[in-house]
Amino acid sequence: MRIGVLALQGDFEEHSSALQRLGVEVVEIRLPEDLHDIDGIVIPGGESTTIGKLARQYGLVEELKKLSNKIPFWGTCGGLVFMAADVGFDQPVLGIMDMKVERNAFGRQVESFEKELRIEGLEGPPFPGVFIRAPVVMSVGKNVKILCQVDDGRIVAVRQDNMLATSFHPELTSDDRLHRYFIAMVGETSCSTLAGSKIS
Ligand code: GLN
Repeated sequence: MRIGVLALQGDFEEHSSALQRLGVEVVEIRLPEDLHDIDGIVIPGGESTTIGKLARQYGLVEELKKLSNKIPFWGTCGGLVFMAADVGFDQPVLGIMDMKVERNAFGRQVESFEKELRIEGLEGPPFPGVFIRAPVVMSVGKNVKILCQVDDGRIVAVRQDNMLATSFHPELTSDDRLHRYFIAMVGETSCSTLAGSKIS
């Protein structure tokens, strides 16, 4: 299994290390030609405006959009913003997830915090959610499933078909359950593609 990590800006190295610790081959994505032969994509946290501008400059926006119909995507924090259809700002986004987000919804960098989260689909103790100038999901379309809300009801993890998005940063913790969850999504998709190609 090969997973691409968008490596334009942000904490892509932490995602790469977390995936490699789980035995996944990681490909750092900087240009469209890096997108060949990968089974899933992670879009790290960072500054979504910078990620968007660089992605557009390198010709990645259209390629990533096309690929999102084929392989699983996971965006964390700034990556969640980059995947959303409506971010309330004029900035380049993929617009592949049917949701409206509010950037920096919990305040500034100094207001970063950690919170224990209950996430649908994850067994065991609460997940340590690290929030750094994090976005929240304000509303979702009917195909988007809510996986986690904080106490006041704000949505911080969602899934739409093959796409996962989290407001917080699992790659900055030693808890690898969300990375394993995503690897399982990738595994299911590549198995069904393989099965499909065998039949045809
Ligand atoms: N505030 C950033 C944005 O909206 C995201 C911050 C992060 O990824 N830690 O793009």
